[in-house]
Amino acid sequence: MDISYIINALGEDRALYFNAVSPPILQTSNFASDTVADMRQKLTQEAEATLYTRGNNPTVTILEKKIAALEGAEHAIAFGSGMGAVSAAVLSQVQAGDHVVSVRKPYTWTNALMRRFLPRFGVEVTMVDGTNPEHFRQALKPNTKVIYLESPNSFTFDLQDIPAIVSMAKAHNLVTIIDNSFATPINQKPLELGVDLVVHSATKYIGGHSDVMGGIVCGSREMINKIFGSEFMVLGAVLSPHDAWLLLRGLRTLPLRMERVAETTRQVVAYLEQHPKVERVHFPFLPSHPQYELAKKQLRNNTGQFSILLKTQEMEQVELFCNTLEHFLMAASWGGHESLIYPIAAAYSPGRLKPKLPFNLVRFYIGLEDAAYLIKDLENAFDKMATG
Ligand SMILES: *Cc1c(COP(=O)(O)O)cnc(C)c1O
Repeated sequence: MDISYIINALGEDRALYFNAVSPPILQTSNFASDTVADMRQKLTQEAEATLYTRGNNPTVTILEKKIAALEGAEHAIAFGSGMGAVSAAVLSQVQAGDHVVSVRKPYTWTNALMRRFLPRFGVEVTMVDGTNPEHFRQALKPNTKVIYLESPNSFTFDLQDIPAIVSMAKAHNLVTIIDNSFATPINQKPLELGVDLVVHSATKYIGGHSDVMGGIVCGSREMINKIFGSEFMVLGAVLSPHDAWLLLRGLRTLPLRMERVAETTRQVVAYLEQHPKVERVHFPFLPSHPQYELAKKQLRNNTGQFSILLKTQEMEQVELFCNTLEHFLMAASWGGHESLIYPIAAAYSPGRLKPKLPFNLVRFYIGLEDAAYLIKDLENAFDKMATG
């Protein structure tokens, strides 16, 4: 399906609302029925019905249809946050006594789901280095039900070889779930590679303006309706109609933003790669990166994330570099208009568990600013380091 059609027209029945170009925000919790028969019909098929906003709301449905189509999925359901989507997708596939194999170092709260939450309910989890597909096979147990992927993954942006892992999973009848937030459906379509469920933090690139939270799960109609009737309705991580509207507005410019971010990121990375105060750049689209070939095969283009190791063993130097940057905001998250840094140094504090990542690692997100404007800011911060 044409991406321009999906983004500009699909799911929008404008004749229903005065031919308004922008869809209405149906700010209602409830929908009335005309007859008992009408209400009975809704109750027997709530996944397809407009009955109550914790289930379906027409503004939210437009968003679900568009993202499902972008991912090449039969169906999708939206959540109030990315973690709402991740948790519902994983929980829908397991019960006490089951085992999950997950990629190591996923997003922080996905890691908490795997390491702390699932074990409380009798679900075992093994976390593996995802750069070698063999590791997933070696971790299988007779009770394994799910393989969980995040590619590229948080902080170091390692990739997993999706087709290789999927073919192993299919041979063992396992469900595969992937967090596709970093790549977006513009750059990676996991369902086409055989993955069963795709989850997103829509808070990031899909929203694109750092002003709304949301999540989505995409998959077959059967799998999505099963999640609807269980984790979605029970746990209630519902997306509000107003937030769905903001996400729809963000979605209109997603391809444009992804192109811009990709181009600027390549320029900033090229600058950083040759810089004498940078020890290493974690960015799979660099020809020197061990996963460069896989990156070119699996992703249509690079995105705005990478991380660097500063060439220093002094915390003060790392702090000086980060504190001097003016145009990069220091923050969690990513995917908005504004460039960001996330210093791992901030996770180092006395009395806290020592992080697995080194303190001189700085994660970057490149937003919509000009490359020259950002590089000048970096140059200034590196200069400070020298004299600091
Ligand atoms: C932010 C993030 C999430 C969680 O999304 P929220 O919208 O913050 O709940 C999940 N996965 C990845 C890769 C993320 O970056």
